[in-house]
Amino acid sequence: MAAAGAASATPGPTVCVLVLGMAGSGKTALVQRLAAHLHSQRAAPYIINLDPAVHELPFPANIDIRDTVKYKEVMKQYGLGPNGGIVTSLNLFATRFDQVMKFIEKRQTASQYVLIDTPGQIEVFTWSASGTIITEALASSFPSVVVYVMDTSRSTSPVTFMSNMLYACSILYKTKLPFIVAMNKTDIIDHSFAVEWMQDFEAFQDALSQEATYVSNLTRSMSLVLDEFYNSLKVVGVSAVQGTGLDEFFEQVAKAVDEYEREYRPEYERLRKKRGRMQSQQQQEQLERLQRDMGPLAVESSSAVSGSMAESSLGSSALILTRGALEEEEEQEEAQESDTDDIDHEVTEESHEEPAFRSFLQEAKLRYPARNSH
Ligand code: GDP
Ligand code: MG
Repeated sequence: MAAAGAASATPGPTVCVLVLGMAGSGKTALVQRLAAHLHSQRAAPYIINLDPAVHELPFPANIDIRDTVKYKEVMKQYGLGPNGGIVTSLNLFATRFDQVMKFIEKRQTASQYVLIDTPGQIEVFTWSASGTIITEALASSFPSVVVYVMDTSRSTSPVTFMSNMLYACSILYKTKLPFIVAMNKTDIIDHSFAVEWMQDFEAFQDALSQEATYVSNLTRSMSLVLDEFYNSLKVVGVSAVQGTGLDEFFEQVAKAVDEYEREYRPEYERLRKKRGRMQSQQQQEQLERLQRDMGPLAVESSSAVSGSMAESSLGSSALILTRGALEEEEEQEEAQESDTDDIDHEVTEESHEEPAFRSFLQEAKLRYPARNSH
């Protein structure tokens, strides 16, 4: 695999970088910075915005969910609050994600990286059917990695840090993709304290002992569990604002891609084969699940989503819109090509044989033998 900063070197397969993180952690700022960096290396990325509620994007997105789904309209139509509006918008978009996949596939030769910005509220993506559909669609066609953005400046208390790491751990388990923690905002505070806590159990215990609370007792026990997780974790400190740490960031991405090829691709291919026969049935189940999520107006909207209605919350077109020079060309090819139709994105959360959390930890233990205890 291409090495660090190798954005402009030999283009390997297109890599999907899914950027997740708590609201305000700096996902959008990081995508902007990564895009600028790649542009400067003459390796323009393909950018997808999945946040329907963002006001202004600091970068030009090739595919923007806001062009397809009008979030305010969705709220009105379904009588939803802001969060429900975002979830439903994402669900509507996910039902057409096969189109997005086609656009990415056509862009493969032009872009080495696909950067995907996600909604402010992380749970909207990670705990929704649409988040799973999108992640699995990407991962079954491209090397894909998750970048979990953490606000380092808000993780300086051991208890907060630990909560953040537990959350990261749950997402690693949920997405089943190579996973990088980007400790962002290192211009405010260096991330070395966090790295030390992860590498030196006693240092973390020391920090904790300053806080003699009930929570810190719980944290103490939990940190034993997390130790295994830390062993397998790729960590990089970055500042989205200042643009530091990016070379190391891309080194970690390259390692994560290797990991994808070694450990994840076979699994995705096996899943795809196994499900091949049941594909259409599962696709149907997936759609039904989304419709359930979307509530009483689902029927009306799902017909809009499948393209038969002109006016709806999806605006005047139910098609995924893209921007940029290749667009027209792509649309023409679109009519002729149908060989990308068989993407495996029929997988739902329930349909996984997810290993129990414990067995995940056991696997991790085998793979990453524990260091000597201190
Ligand atoms: P998102 O909700 O995760 O997309 O977060 P944003 O990218 O919108 O950033 C949230 C806030 O954090 C904004 O005010 C950014 O300017 C700020 N921010 C993002 N990255 C950095 C960073 O590296 N350093 C500092 N100091 N602020 C940052
Ligand atoms: Mg954002």
